[in-house]
Amino acid sequence: MARYIKAVCRLCRREAEKLFLKGTKCSGPKCPLAKRSYPPGQHGQLRQKLSNYGLQLREKQKVKRIYGVLEKQFRRYFRMASKAKGVTGRVLLQILERRLDNVVYRLGLGTSRAQSRQLVRHNFIYINSKRVNIPSYLIDEGDVIEVKLKENVLNKIRENIELSKDRIVPGWLEFDPKQLKAKVLRLPQKEDIPADIKEQLIVELYSK
Ligand code: SF4
Repeated sequence: MARYIKAVCRLCRREAEKLFLKGTKCSGPKCPLAKRSYPPGQHGQLRQKLSNYGLQLREKQKVKRIYGVLEKQFRRYFRMASKAKGVTGRVLLQILERRLDNVVYRLGLGTSRAQSRQLVRHNFIYINSKRVNIPSYLIDEGDVIEVKLKENVLNKIRENIELSKDRIVPGWLEFDPKQLKAKVLRLPQKEDIPADIKEQLIVELYSK
C-alpha cells in the first residue's frame, strides 16, 4: 500500500493546525507549528484568502492526513459513504474512524496512527480470535479486538498505553488494558471524534 513517507510536520504546517501525526511527541515543545505557523515553501508566508474551493480542498486534505489515507482510498470511502444510509459526511467520518489502525490508535496501543498501523501490519492484532494485518480493515459493532505478542513487545505496548493515558478511550470502545482486549460497543459517531472536522465541505467538494 502506498503511503506518505516525507516529513509529516510539513503536513501540519500546510493545514496550519496540529494534526498530531507524531502522536505523543506532538505535545512537546519541539512542535514546529509553534515557531512556524505558516505553510512550508517559498511562498508560505504570503497570506492568501482562500476561495470556497480552497476551503473545501484544505478540509479534505486535512482529514486525509489525519487518518493517513491517500486520495484513491479516500475517494473510495466517499463513494461507500454516498451509497450508504445516512448523512454522507457523517458516514464518511464513521468509515475512517472504523479503520483498524485508527481503532488501535484510539485504544492507546500505538502512540500515533503510523505506529498503530505498524502494530497491525506486524500481525499483533486479532479480531474475534482471527489475526488481521490489514490497517484499512473496518471493524464492526460487537467485534472483539485483542493484542497477542511476545513479552519484549508487550512491554513496548504497555509503555505506549502509559504515554497515551491523556487520550481518553472513546465511549464506543470498551478497553481492558490488563488483558489488552477491547470490544466495539457501537459504531462511532461524529461527536466521538475529537478533531474539528467540517465534513460538509468535503461532501461539497466531491459533489461538484
Ligand atoms: Fe504536527 Fe506533531 Fe509535527 Fe507538531 S510535532 S507539526 S503536531 S506532527
